[in-house]
Amino acid sequence: MAHLARPTSSDEACPSARHATDSSSRTEVAVVGGGDAALKEALFLAKIVKKVHIIHRRDRFRAEKVTQEKALAHPNFEFHLNKVVEEIKGDFMGVQRLRLKDTVDSSEHELALDGVFVFVGISPNTSFIDVDKDDYGFIKTDQLLQTSVEGIFAAGDCRVTPLRQVATAVGDGALAAVMAQHYIESLG
Ligand SMILES: Cc1cc2nc3c(=O)[nH]c(=O)nc-3n(C[C@H](O)[C@H](O)[C@H](O)COP(=O)(O)OP(=O)(O)OC[C@H]3O[C@@H](n4cnc5c(N)ncnc54)[C@H](O)[C@@H]3O)c2cc1C
Repeated sequence: MAHLARPTSSDEACPSARHATDSSSRTEVAVVGGGDAALKEALFLAKIVKKVHIIHRRDRFRAEKVTQEKALAHPNFEFHLNKVVEEIKGDFMGVQRLRLKDTVDSSEHELALDGVFVFVGISPNTSFIDVDKDDYGFIKTDQLLQTSVEGIFAAGDCRVTPLRQVATAVGDGALAAVMAQHYIESLG
């Protein structure tokens, strides 16, 4: 069974990742990315699959040194450096192959596998709103989720926050809704 899955911010793969890697010791998966989250997730996946292909667009990693050392020494890892994913191929059953492109000489080749886990970061869709943001476009809020503009509140993944998961987004939503209600009531 093959699946697409997104990054999680913990050491454990999200439920869809667990499903993807369910029990098959023959499974081969790819992890795309070279940061801490990518390599930590790859180390987790390596416990339950036959091989983890690490695909990274540069020739060195950004992950912490200790994580890099564990990854580089792992017997079940295969590294594809200076490579980017051009296409994910598959059918309704899931992922079957990746088409990779070399960032140095532009050559291409395909890799047969059963799943791919992408850890290349996220980009918030916040360009439509004119409030203070960080360098990546995440909206800055105070503890009550008020933005730099009075009466505009932000909740969930789009704001500056240390954790982007369902639980935190739901909590933000509840708080932002109550704060918005208080704001409206304060207007009289
Ligand atoms: C594949 C995947 C797997 C995940 N697995 C897990 C997991 O196992 N556990 C976990 O805790 N978290 C998981 N997450 C993270 C979790 O989904 C997010 O943290 C959570 O959905 C954030 O909720 P949100 O409401 O802030 O943003 P979103 O869920 O992204 O919702 C934002 C909504 O705003 C809409 N929108 C965007 N721009 C505009 C606009 N200009 N106008 C109007 N509407 C707009 C979008 O269409 C969307 O409906 C996963 C995420 C993905 C993508």
